[in-house]
Order: sequence, then C-alpha cells, then structure tokens
Amino acid sequence: MRKLQNERLRNLVNYVYDRVPFYRQLFDAHGLKPSHIQRVEDLHLLPFTNKQDLRDNYPFGLLAVPRQEISRVHCSSGTTGKPTVVGYTAGDIEIFSEVVARSLAAGGCKPGMMLQNGYGYGLFTGGLGLHYGAEKLGMTVVPVSGGMTERQLMLLQDFKPEVLCCTPSYAQALAEEIKKRDISLESLNLKFALLGAEPWTDSIRQHVQQGLGLQATNIYGLSEIIGPGVSQEDVEEPGTGSYLWEDHFYPEIVDATTGEVLPEGELGVLVLTTLTKRGMPLLRYRTNDITNIYYSHSGKRTHVKMGPIKGRADGMLIIRGVNLFYTQVEEVLQMFEHLTTHYQLVVSREGSMDEVEVHVEVSQSLVRELGLEHISIVELCRFPVLSELNATFCKRLKENTGLTMRVHLKVTGEIPRSEGGKLNRIVDKRQVYA
Ligand code: ADP
Repeated sequence: MRKLQNERLRNLVNYVYDRVPFYRQLFDAHGLKPSHIQRVEDLHLLPFTNKQDLRDNYPFGLLAVPRQEISRVHCSSGTTGKPTVVGYTAGDIEIFSEVVARSLAAGGCKPGMMLQNGYGYGLFTGGLGLHYGAEKLGMTVVPVSGGMTERQLMLLQDFKPEVLCCTPSYAQALAEEIKKRDISLESLNLKFALLGAEPWTDSIRQHVQQGLGLQATNIYGLSEIIGPGVSQEDVEEPGTGSYLWEDHFYPEIVDATTGEVLPEGELGVLVLTTLTKRGMPLLRYRTNDITNIYYSHSGKRTHVKMGPIKGRADGMLIIRGVNLFYTQVEEVLQMFEHLTTHYQLVVSREGSMDEVEVHVEVSQSLVRELGLEHISIVELCRFPVLSELNATFCKRLKENTGLTMRVHLKVTGEIPRSEGGKLNRIVDKRQVYA
C-alpha cells in the first residue's frame, strides 16, 4: 500500500505542479519542487488546501484539465451564496463509482440486490454518487431521490428493495412514519442501510435498525474529495470505525491549532490528499472534520480505519442536510445597527427535524432608547420596533442561509457567558456526534 501511495503521490505532485497555477504558486512560495515530495511522509512540507482556496478559485480555477475534459460537476450543499464546485473527468467518475461500489459491498450489498436511493439527485454528490456505484456493483437502482415520504414508503412495500441509502435523519423519519402507519416490517424486505452525509450516533443506529428491520452502516465523504465513499463501515464490524479507501485518498490527522501531523489513533483534524483524481485533485485538503485514524489488526480488511466524526473544527453545522457556518449568521447580524455580535445558536431536534434558534442581544443604545433595562424577555414583544427587527432579521437569515430560524431578542448580558466571560456560540442539543 505504501509503495502504491508513494508512486501515486509522486505522479500527483508533478501533475498539479505542471497543470494548476494555484499549486505551482504554492510550491514556489514555499521553496518546494515536486521532487521534494517523494513519499507520503514528505507531505507535511506542504501547506494545507482549504475551502477558501476553492472559493477563491470559483468556479473552475482549480481544474487540472481543460473544462472540456470535465464530464460532470458537483457542488457542496450550501443552498445560498457561491457553492464550492468540483469537477470530475470520466476517469474520476470511474474512481467515484469504484469507491462507492466498494463501500456498498462493505455495507452488505451484493450484485443483484435492489437499492432504493433516497439521497438527493442534483448538484449534491450523494444521489448520483451512490447511483453509479450501485450500478457498478451490479445492483438494481431505484433512483427515487430525497424526500417524498409517501412515494418512498410505497416503493419500499411494492418493489421490496433490500437496501436503503439516505441520511440518518431521513431514515429516522421513515422509521417513525412506518410505526405511525402501523406498516409491518414483514411487508418490507429491507436488509441493509448505508447512511451518511451528516453525523449520527449509536442510538440513532439502534432506532433506525429496529424501526426499519435492517443493519445500518456509516458512509462518509465530502464533495471536495469525491463525495460519499471516502470511507465506509463494514457490516460485520459495526461501531469499530470505517475503512478509508487509502489507495485513492491519503489521510493525515493534524493538530487543529498547530497543524502538526499527529500519531496513529490520536484525535485531530482529518486532512486528505486525492491520490488518483485527475479533474480537480487536491493536496492536503483540510476537511475540518475531527476524528482519528488507526489500523485494526483484527478487522477483515487491511485499509486504515477512521473513527466516527466527533465534531467540526470550524463550527460548521449540518441543519436538515444544509451546511451552516455560524459565521454566516454573524454576517447577517452585521447588517443590523441594533443587533450586537453577542449571539448564540441553539440547535435542537424535534422528531427528525432540526430546529435552530438564534439568541441575540440588542444594542445598548436601543435598550436605553426603549427603556428596556428592567423589562423581562416576555414583555419585549410588546414593542413594535422589536417585533419588526425580529421579523426582518428572520427574513435576512432565510435569504442568506436558506434556513428558517427562530429568533429571540435579548437585552445586554442575558445570554450566559462561560467562566472566562466567553460566549459559547453554538449549543447543539441534538448530540449527533458520537
Ligand atoms: P454534502 O454535499 O454531502 O453535504 P459536503 O461536501 O457539503 O457534502 O459535506 C461534507 C461534510 O458532511 C463532511 O465534511 C462531514 O462534515 C459531513 N459528513 C458527511 N458524511 C458524514 C458522516 N458519515 N458522518 C459525519 N459527518 C459526515
């Protein structure tokens, strides 16, 4: 494996140096030549690539081939603003299908089985990614896409697929609906589910497994690297980590602050290098997902394993499948003279629906102007200025993030500070991280 990775890496650094001005400048700025990177252990010499680099080169600046040689583009799941764009050559689509086919096989799928694909088709990598991988494995694909619960339930009963792919929260929603309608699990034929695109826990796994009568495994990936199928849990080794297909994606775990590479098993930020992609290869891409990697000597496969995602190093939240950075809320706040940047996002889950509340303190000048100092929060809504402010803020939030959030205006000091006087920006009550 190391020999193969090193060969592929040497090939890759020459390739991007010759073809991608961004990488050539990065190498030059660090006094590096491709010949300095001979082995995976040399990768630490290079700086990280991050999401901002993709944004700065929007839409096609990081392509290593002429646009005409790109056979498909995908984007990351933000619903507003400029998305991050990725391009695949025909060969990259082959690799994508290959790693997804492997993932499906690890998740229990076999040629001939039927897969109901409840991942969204479109710019999002999930739908088409799973689709091509399933075809490659020789499965029958039902490309139903996300949502439309009524239709999903009908197809599950009529077509009797053995496999379901969707997000864990949607699988929970389906399980709840099946229970509510008293649909017997015998009328279905489900055996396996591959769930991913957002974090989930063992208790969600239990809920889905019982509610749908199947075995559920975790599939992980991100569009910048390829999409789903970067790593996948084996159905015979649940809860012990996911196999990361390291012949295509070389992983490192680095310290979130110093960027230093950490030893096997330690928790840190996952950094990935695409060893084989040709359309838009990335060197040392900082995923900001916090996890660890390790070799399991009792596992049935030999690839490196990755633990569950423990959180994000950049405060990104996944709300109903949409990526939300708290900084997006901050940007909207800055449009309002009478709102301060003392705010907190409280995320909860009602049933399988994520809810976001924004608590924000109004400016002191407004507090003084309205004489709010001694007024309780319940009474605040009696002031038309405040309800108007609340409504416009909600509207701007929706326009800028694509998400509906509930806003609670507060007076100075009302949002609890931690001991050091710091405000905890995100309170995630969903406990989605294992
Ligand atoms: P998508 O388009 O699938 O949302 P993005 O590239 O926008 O893909 O988002 C990828 C991010 O989604 C990952 O970096 C990670 O934070 C999260 N993610 C994907 N799969 C999983 C998973 N199985 N467990 C936890 N988080 C996941």
